[in-house]
Amino acid sequence: MRDVIVLGSGPAGLTAAIYATRAGLRPLVFEGAEAGGQLMLTTEVENYPGFADPILGPDLMAAMRKQAERVGSELLSEDAVEADLRHRPFRITSQSGETYETKALIIATGARAKLLGLPGEQRLMGRGVSTCATCDGFFFRERSVIVVGGGDTAMEEALYLSKLAKSVTIVHRRDQLRASKILQQRAMSNPKINFVWNHVVADIVGDGKVSGVKLKDLRTDRIAERPVDGVFVAIGHKPNTDLFRGQLEMDENGYITRTHRSSTSVEGVFAAGDVHDHTYRQAVTAAGYGCEAAIDAERWLQHQGN
Ligand code: NAP
Repeated sequence: MRDVIVLGSGPAGLTAAIYATRAGLRPLVFEGAEAGGQLMLTTEVENYPGFADPILGPDLMAAMRKQAERVGSELLSEDAVEADLRHRPFRITSQSGETYETKALIIATGARAKLLGLPGEQRLMGRGVSTCATCDGFFFRERSVIVVGGGDTAMEEALYLSKLAKSVTIVHRRDQLRASKILQQRAMSNPKINFVWNHVVADIVGDGKVSGVKLKDLRTDRIAERPVDGVFVAIGHKPNTDLFRGQLEMDENGYITRTHRSSTSVEGVFAAGDVHDHTYRQAVTAAGYGCEAAIDAERWLQHQGN
């Protein structure tokens, strides 16, 4: 029986682990198959306070993990595949079939990239289709790529790819970007980046690897094929909450609803980071939420006479 289990090892999960461990709660942390969360897919981070010079996302996460280990957090390199939140103690089952009981649970499972849902997208994923320029950009040196989306992520992906690819085309479904002004300006003034407005990708084509996209003009419904070597999908994120569906209150997009501070609709279950936060989605806010959840869990356990 554990006092606290933490699900997730992004900034929210590891901060919760550090605080819970230092409070003497001996948390068990499910790092998940994709340990480190979304910062593992980032290059330079220059807005996380405490680093005068930019730090690489994976280096930042390695430092947080090391810190969690140093204070004594127990890390399990597995995904949780089942969560039973109907009774206390809660029961969490790992990939390897082990079931753990816990008095309190901190959910910090984050979010992941959304996909377009096209037949060619699945078929060619990893064969020219990607959701991470930092991970896969290297394979597209001197090639032509498109980036789908009009938000900050799409601009960042396009800017990153512009350093490697021959040309980068941003395909956006409207004639206005959602991205912040600064990123818009950077993308628009980059000679390697051009824009296709009011278009969606109708399908991705290629035999074994991407050779082109079918672009649909939303003003005329006309579809035209365009040769490209790579397609980077950057249209937002989906929270990792499937495990808790039907057991916890969530909004229409699957983000966990917090009732009071980090508390959720189930007493003893706390949520931290991108799994509930679709507004800020920053490493530093996720870390803050992780701290909050650990303190809330500690106080709740104390109140329970722990
Ligand atoms: P986002 O802001 O939700 O933007 C998603 C974009 O994809 C939108 O332009 C949207 O079009 C488009 N889109 C969504 N579904 C689509 C579909 N099925 N087909 C075609 N286009 C589709 O997501 P994000 O860019 O990932 O950013 C998420 C949050 O993280 C934002 O708050 C952002 O500011 C933040 N962020 C910040 C930074 C930074 O500051 N450096 C970097 C990355 C992310 P519409 O515009 O028409 O809705």
